[in-house]
Amino acid sequence: MAPGHMLPMLNMAKLFACHDHRVRATILTTPANVTTLVKTITINSNSKIELALIPFPSTAAGLPLGCENLATILSHDDLIPNFIQAVSMLTQPFEQILKELQPNVIITDAFIPWTIDITSKLRIPQIISHGTGFFPLCLSDIIANYNPHETLPAETMSFLVPGIPHRVELLKTQVLDIMKAGKPMLDLLLKIKDTESRSYGVVVNSFYELEPDYVQHYRSTVMGRRAWHVGPVSLCNEDVINGASATADKDHECLRWLDKKQPGSVLYVCFGSMCVFTGEQLREIALGLEASNHAFIWVVPKVVKRDEDMDWMPEGFEGRINIEGKKGFIIRGWAPQLLILNHKAVGGFMTHCGWNSTLEGVCAGLPMITWPLFAEQFYNERLVVDVLKIGVAVGTKEYVMKHEDRPLIHGIDIERAVNCVMGGGEEAEAMRKRVRELGEMAKSAVMEDGSSYTELTRLINELLLLTGKHTQQ
Ligand code: UDP
Repeated sequence: MAPGHMLPMLNMAKLFACHDHRVRATILTTPANVTTLVKTITINSNSKIELALIPFPSTAAGLPLGCENLATILSHDDLIPNFIQAVSMLTQPFEQILKELQPNVIITDAFIPWTIDITSKLRIPQIISHGTGFFPLCLSDIIANYNPHETLPAETMSFLVPGIPHRVELLKTQVLDIMKAGKPMLDLLLKIKDTESRSYGVVVNSFYELEPDYVQHYRSTVMGRRAWHVGPVSLCNEDVINGASATADKDHECLRWLDKKQPGSVLYVCFGSMCVFTGEQLREIALGLEASNHAFIWVVPKVVKRDEDMDWMPEGFEGRINIEGKKGFIIRGWAPQLLILNHKAVGGFMTHCGWNSTLEGVCAGLPMITWPLFAEQFYNERLVVDVLKIGVAVGTKEYVMKHEDRPLIHGIDIERAVNCVMGGGEEAEAMRKRVRELGEMAKSAVMEDGSSYTELTRLINELLLLTGKHTQQ
């Protein structure tokens, strides 16, 4: 229950319902998430998408009212156990609502693994979504088995990922050390694995042409998973992106600001929905962006609790970026990311390598500056930098969950990466060309007869057969 998982799930509901006249989708969520997230989908009496709500036990779990997804408790690490407890209290209402709704198939996020016990009991086929792509899924599996922290000598700093067709090197510090992560994390990962093996299959927000070797690897005897690539799911919002449908996001001031900029001249900087930085790090970002001399839109992340009162902004920064030809635009809060990425003035994307952002960057044909922090983001960085060769790394070296413990990235390294991606050199041109081509492939994949379109048809037909629905048509 976090925006980066809920948004693609909403898009997936839209995708299924729009793809085939025999399919209806019901989105199951909790009340506060309707106002913040479900508003992105039109739900009315004619729509084939319905909404079902179960109450969220905020008070019973000791959470402030309205804290119904992880992003709402971002700078409060101390509330995470309460949040996990609240989610685990949803089992009974979940079972009850499934009995009422009687869905033919249910798609859930892999991070709510207890759902499989209920769907198995009610004999409802369940498909899961990990919220990430084939490459990171393969690497997670390979590295969990390889276990570099245990098997490599302590002095070994880096290793080559074994058994894959590309040369991918990772630092040991960029990989989750399961022993250090602790038992709750280990238990969660084991439960997710169990859910995957008991589910009917896995639906993946990706497209074949992006990572063909890893689609094969995931499905082949090596991993042997039943999986369907149906993405990029964000492309079901094409009507919003190209202006055919109205949305409140279209009035965002940053879009008017972008209208005045030269094509490809602006860097978009955003670290997703879950990142929190120290004041010191934000200051270095500001210095690096300013020194690069390229125009930018920066979605400023939340600052760690201990730095909340700190004045991290370099002196006179906002004034300077406003006066000198309006160099920068700062967004505090939620940015209309899809609209920004697809604006013609934007020429590069500094990203934390969340899977959705990575894929959205590819769809928009933008080269990336990669700044992974935790989760599978370091694997996504390797896909972007080493496999697809459409980005440069800013140089983060450690997987660190606790925001305040992350090593500092200096302004000078940020400036170097920005100049490399936004500059006019041969390397930058080649990256731009490759990512533009991938963006075209992404769009073709979701069009009629494209790889993802065909895959979704195959999946829906299979599910209709499985649930006996085809006999009623
Ligand atoms: N997003 C957005 N505006 C923001 C921040 C994020 O629209 O200000 C969207 C972004 O387009 C993406 C999702 O939120 O679809 C973030 O997912 P991602 O996997 O990139 O990162 P996470 O937030 O899960 O770390």
